[in-house]
Amino acid sequence: MHTLSNKVRIAVHSKKLGKFSPKHVRFYMKYASFVFRALRRPSFQSFLHWMLRKENIEAHMVMDVQVRVFPFQSENGNGLAGNCNVNRGEIQIYPKRLAFCRKLMQKFGRKKLISYVKGRARAALIHELLHLKYSNDEEKVRKLTKKYFAVFTQNRLPKSSDILSISNIIFRPKVTKNAPKHIDQDAGT
Ligand SMILES: [Zn+2]
Repeated sequence: MHTLSNKVRIAVHSKKLGKFSPKHVRFYMKYASFVFRALRRPSFQSFLHWMLRKENIEAHMVMDVQVRVFPFQSENGNGLAGNCNVNRGEIQIYPKRLAFCRKLMQKFGRKKLISYVKGRARAALIHELLHLKYSNDEEKVRKLTKKYFAVFTQNRLPKSSDILSISNIIFRPKVTKNAPKHIDQDAGT
């Protein structure tokens, strides 16, 4: 039943390895392992399968969910949270940059940074899965992502006040110019 879980894997592009310092590599490897575990957690997987049923999206449309170790830099310099190749059923989830995470940790602490990292990746996966159905309708996908992410976090953490501020960071509106189609900037997840 929970077949989606088996399709999640950590993917590292060896070409990129040489471009980062050992410190960066350590950080991004650790980041990826947090994301990998967060996406495969049974409570989140059950939620995803519920969402897919509700949206009439067949789970077998998803062939591969890659947790990318290194961040993606688009041509306009914006970071990327996720990407979905609808035809191939291939989803990529990208990390936030080290410099951003460091700033977030200084401001809010380690615990909150981890909540943010997990929440951002989960929101990105929800977002990219919805693209399987609403391929180019970015506005609809964004709206639904927000809705479903709230459903998941509220079911799970009924008393958490933290989660609202985490959501605010994840869904913070950002002006993105010339964003290519199917490329999801942070504001999209
Ligand atoms: Zn999108």
